[in-house]
Amino acid sequence: MTTGSRGPPASKMRQWPDDGDTRNKGFCAHCGGPEQSRDHNPSKIFLDDPLPDNLPVASSCQACNAGFSDDEEYVACLMECAIAGHVEPARLARASVAKTLSSNQRLRREILAARREEDGTVVWDPNAERLKRIAIKLARGLVDFELNEPQLHAPDGVGIVPLILMSDDARRIFEGEPGGFALWPELGSRAFHRVLLGREDDFVNGWIVVQQDRFRYRVSQEDGMRVRMVLREYLALEVGWL
Ligand SMILES: [Zn+2]
Repeated sequence: MTTGSRGPPASKMRQWPDDGDTRNKGFCAHCGGPEQSRDHNPSKIFLDDPLPDNLPVASSCQACNAGFSDDEEYVACLMECAIAGHVEPARLARASVAKTLSSNQRLRREILAARREEDGTVVWDPNAERLKRIAIKLARGLVDFELNEPQLHAPDGVGIVPLILMSDDARRIFEGEPGGFALWPELGSRAFHRVLLGREDDFVNGWIVVQQDRFRYRVSQEDGMRVRMVLREYLALEVGWL
């Protein structure tokens, strides 16, 4: 994994119309509670300035919105430290993460406790529950945003693994075949427009690149509802509902 101090190139995302039905309107995409805000998905801690235009958004209640930020900071900081191999904020590539980690000693201690060395190799034992909560949070927001298919029940599967630990076969399956969706998404949904109107800069082989090297995702209805995501070109996440 290469790291550098250079930020990601500015990117823009086209605003896709959402003419789908109203199932996802008016309630929290995470718990079904009242819609009290519409938040960027992913949240800003996973992206760098300048933020792309037209970021995906997710409806949420105040409790969900507030409840995720600690886990989001944990995941963003943990990834950056895992990429760098250390927990020293001044030497991390992403400025926003370095700032968060220097001002939060509790978080720094928690990430430090996840790091150990084995035969000269740095090994990380992250808090799996925190990672899982963020994977589900991101996926719920994205199926709602892309497909108008809110999934409030627990997912049937959650997979989280660094890309570098995937076998070649697993990686091929995860990245998917070029060509986009196996089934047509709901008429009028954002995913439908992407398929109908063809590829744009932000839509590559079915993957939507929110910000280069920071966050990309792919939603599909090949086998139930499935969301694949890559954070920081480091961590692969997959969440599925049958
Ligand atoms: Zn909620």
